[in-house]
Amino acid sequence: MTTQAKAPSQPPAPTRVRAVLGLLDRLYPQAKCTLDHQDPWQLLVATILSAQCTDERVNQVTPGLFARLPGPEAMAKAEPEELMELIRSTGFFRNKAKSLQGAARALVERHGGIVPGNLDDLVKLPGVGRKTANVVLGDAFGIPGITVDTHVGRVAKRLGFTTQDDPVKVEFDLMALVPPKRWTLFSHQVILHGRRVCQAKKPRCPECLLLPHCPHGQAHTPA
Ligand code: SF4
Repeated sequence: MTTQAKAPSQPPAPTRVRAVLGLLDRLYPQAKCTLDHQDPWQLLVATILSAQCTDERVNQVTPGLFARLPGPEAMAKAEPEELMELIRSTGFFRNKAKSLQGAARALVERHGGIVPGNLDDLVKLPGVGRKTANVVLGDAFGIPGITVDTHVGRVAKRLGFTTQDDPVKVEFDLMALVPPKRWTLFSHQVILHGRRVCQAKKPRCPECLLLPHCPHGQAHTPA
């Protein structure tokens, strides 16, 4: 898929973007992927399992899953019932099992069982969208990518870094604002901020360090 990068309709001032990035560095200097993995395949599997599930739960499930089905070949040949049972506690296990086996079979057939290190090939794997692909590229291959999950989409909109709802459009808005070498770290920092401070229902604006630079927070915080 080709999507044109475009700036938000009213792009934030570069000084405000720099201020937010600096504060994120102060708040979350060590932000990183919290899905346990030892190679790109394990991260691909863990990321597919993390949809609608906590990373903690996924980390409880993956050791047993990889002990039983250690790589794409084993996953491709597994009995669907066994696979579903192994991942049941992550939720949506029928769809996730289909995605895992589809991706595993495609990897075996098209890539010799090796996870490709580029976006175009990754997003052609069944069950793998740009979000999953960017997680794998950023955290397993060291290739920067912006991951737009529910937290990143929400926080970016509140900060006025995007006006879009579509995750791919949000991703391109953020790519236009954030220096490429920071994309992966930025994604992890914003995910943490969304989990800890800028929560969906009750953002904790009065105690948020980003408040002086956040249009949503200023509009919803009494002076
Ligand atoms: S000020 Fe409020 S809305 Fe803005 S980032 Fe902080 S918690 Fe979120």
